[in-house]
Amino acid sequence: MLIRNCSQSRSILASLDNGTEIIGQITDLAKDMGIKAAFISAIGALSQADLGYYDQATRKYLVSPVDEPVELAACSGNISLLEGRPFVHAHAVLADGKGRTWGGHLVRGTVFAAELYLQELSGLPLKRVPDSITGLNLWGKE
Ligand code: ZN
Repeated sequence: MLIRNCSQSRSILASLDNGTEIIGQITDLAKDMGIKAAFISAIGALSQADLGYYDQATRKYLVSPVDEPVELAACSGNISLLEGRPFVHAHAVLADGKGRTWGGHLVRGTVFAAELYLQELSGLPLKRVPDSITGLNLWGKE
């Protein structure tokens, strides 16, 4: 188990732009503001999205498109560094007009409207490094 002490730094609220790709927009925000570690939470609506499921046997993401307007009922994740650049890792629950839901790793999504809460964390950096056991880029010990 890797445990890191951190403390809260800046808190940011942002209204994301219609028509933009959500992970890219959060990544750009982190780059522009020099954010290297953060907790993120967002709600709103997406006009379409791709959700991922990490197949532990094949060590590959299976990606499922959600090709309809959906509520971004919940989205949480974090920002850390991958190869020196901010990397957004987010999971989401999406809901249609009948309350049916999809959930998973948020690969990408087109913003209809979304409100982001970002809590910057200091006392790190938190760097992702390749993990031979899982095949994922996980937080490393350095
Ligand atoms: Zn994930």
